Amino acid sequence: PKPLATRVALVTGAASGIGKAIATRLAAEGACVVIADLDLAKAQAAAAEIGNTDVAVGVQANVTDENQVQAGVDAALLAFGGLDLVVNNAGLSLSKSLLETTVADWDLQHNVMAKGSFLVSRAAAKVLIDQGLGGDIIYISSKNSVFAGPNNIAYSATKADQAHQVRLLAAELGEYGVKVNGINPDGVVRGSGIFAGGWGAKRAAVYGVPEEELGKYYAQRTLLKREVLPENVANAVFVLCTADLSHTTGLHIPVDAGVAAA
Ligand code: NAD
Repeated sequence: PKPLATRVALVTGAASGIGKAIATRLAAEGACVVIADLDLAKAQAAAAEIGNTDVAVGVQANVTDENQVQAGVDAALLAFGGLDLVVNNAGLSLSKSLLETTVADWDLQHNVMAKGSFLVSRAAAKVLIDQGLGGDIIYISSKNSVFAGPNNIAYSATKADQAHQVRLLAAELGEYGVKVNGINPDGVVRGSGIFAGGWGAKRAAVYGVPEEELGKYYAQRTLLKREVLPENVANAVFVLCTADLSHTTGLHIPVDAGVAAA
């Protein structure tokens, strides 16, 4: 595979949380990064924190919109002359039970995560195949793609959809040297817009702990007794892109300090 220091990466939902940590780590390793997110100003602010426009650019791209996704991919080609690595990270969680979940809730969750990553992977795969240099597509799925939790049906179902996209695309794109892998985080409270934006309060209520204690609560229920930070997920993305994992595709790596195994 191309060394990370020579690669161009597109990270969706990278204005905040896990996506921003991933973009920051990739840039620190020498990659050029395109930060795609809903809000242009936030995407550009995150890019400016990471580096100058030779290293990081921010673009507005709603992943549910085919044209905006294409514009995000085109931005990578325009700014940095190629595309080698795509991270499907954009997401949100409504944290609702079956009976609370409306059709609009269901559609939103699936549009952003299942359809959004399909659109991004499709637009990116075309470039990766045409370039003929291989590449990586990485999905930030979730522990919830495999394990059931309360009050999260639409979110968990669409995360399971993403997990199967990983397997399907690994099979379809392997002959072009494109690896497709997933990462299953859990309990990344600090820095997460999803947690700060209401999910944290709901999860805290489900677990019966104060919201400000949620990080500690997640940590104590893990095997390693450690809180998971956005940087830990970014480390897993980095490892997947190293030459040492050049023969690994269709894999899901848990980054949950062991909770999934508990
Ligand atoms: P976050 O809110 O900090 O980041 C999500 C980003 O996605 C935001 O910047 C948001 O603006 C962007 N986004 C939302 N809808 C979008 C759209 N339609 N188009 C483009 N961008 C959009 O939350 P986070 O915790 O960093 O979550 C990042 C990813 O990690 C999500 O896919 C989430 O499901 C997944 N994840 C998080 C955790 C966790 O514990 N925080 C656990 C498992 C999986």
